[in-house]
Amino acid sequence: MARADDIPPISPMGMTLDAFVELCAQQGVGAGRAKAAYQDVYREGKPDSAPSRIVLPEIVKRHEEPVNEGVTIKFVQRLPNPNHRLLHRGIDFDDIESVIIPMIGRSGRKTHTLCVSSQVGCAMGCDFCETAQMGLIRSLTASEIVAQWWAARHIENIEIDNIVFMGMGEPMDNLDEVLAAIECLTDRSGASIPMANITISTVGRIDGLRRIKDQVQEPGWKRLGLALSLNASNDESRSKLMPINNKWNMQELQDILQELREVRGGRKIMIEYVLIPGVNDSLTNADELAAWMKPFLKDPTREKAKGHGGLLNVIPYNPRRDSPWPAPTEEQVDGFVDRLVSHGVFVNRRRTKGRDTMAACGQLGTAEIRKRQFVPVTMNNDSNRDTDER
Ligand code: SAH
Repeated sequence: MARADDIPPISPMGMTLDAFVELCAQQGVGAGRAKAAYQDVYREGKPDSAPSRIVLPEIVKRHEEPVNEGVTIKFVQRLPNPNHRLLHRGIDFDDIESVIIPMIGRSGRKTHTLCVSSQVGCAMGCDFCETAQMGLIRSLTASEIVAQWWAARHIENIEIDNIVFMGMGEPMDNLDEVLAAIECLTDRSGASIPMANITISTVGRIDGLRRIKDQVQEPGWKRLGLALSLNASNDESRSKLMPINNKWNMQELQDILQELREVRGGRKIMIEYVLIPGVNDSLTNADELAAWMKPFLKDPTREKAKGHGGLLNVIPYNPRRDSPWPAPTEEQVDGFVDRLVSHGVFVNRRRTKGRDTMAACGQLGTAEIRKRQFVPVTMNNDSNRDTDER
């Protein structure tokens, strides 16, 4: 058997222990050593432990913001991208942002949620979303997704309780790598995040949600958290805000959510609603939304059903660059929320913290990142084009 030090280093980033052990076996490294190396990386935070060695993307920017619950930390990692489409301008990297958000749990315990990115940019084109403005640059690998957790846990040195896929990108547009990353993050020998503490948030790609329906029936996956960004109360308005709605409409979303509820033992799916003044915040919108949510509200005859079925997260709109709409006032949010509550909808309202933290999840990527990576779709020889116009 080879000595661990004699073989070229292997990175276990993004892998399960089993996959890493197998890879090590191919190099002649025994399972015992492989397991110890894996645990050194994930539990002890050692980047180097033969035969494993991880190369962590450089953290090029870090920003702290005090909030009521503690401190929100954003950090930007720079990923090498030798095939970058801006290579001719000397850009051979992608920047991605992650956010660590402090929260106070129901029991009063302080917890930390990590908001991760699944893509650099996004192809979904939602009108209100900052990330959408830059288009899709590329999807992240499982390793690049897990590296965001590693940086939060072992560089920032913060115990991460929850992970939400609410950073840049559409997880269902990169589902293989997202699922592989979750498999790694939940590995008991490694990061060991409980499945119930991980949430995938989607624009509502039905094909992806069907795959999730199969996946959650696999052992260990039942408790995976799901969130749907609804953001509108009728198809006309939703299709304007979110192009995906032209492909799969709100009725189809309602159907798949009901199917998912069956296979997930009644577990709640979080419905997200970004409240945009003058766009989706009228009392009629609230009434329509409550009607759409009706099948998910708690059935009083089924007391034993887990949770309350319907859970709505109202997120005050955070104006994107060149936004035609302002942020809603407290009164506008109150009016909308009160109306929903009167219909029996369980509303989770993000208060002050929302604006600066969770809401920020939908629009990661600092202005700088976007500026650098924005590429006009039609390139011409005009050298002015080489300076980003936006
Ligand atoms: N693509 C996934 C995950 C990324 S967006 C999805 O759509 O769910 C994460 C959340 O941020 C979504 O609920 C999205 O609707 C919200 N969001 C996007 N832009 C926002 C903005 N400008 N202000 C507030 N929330 C926003």
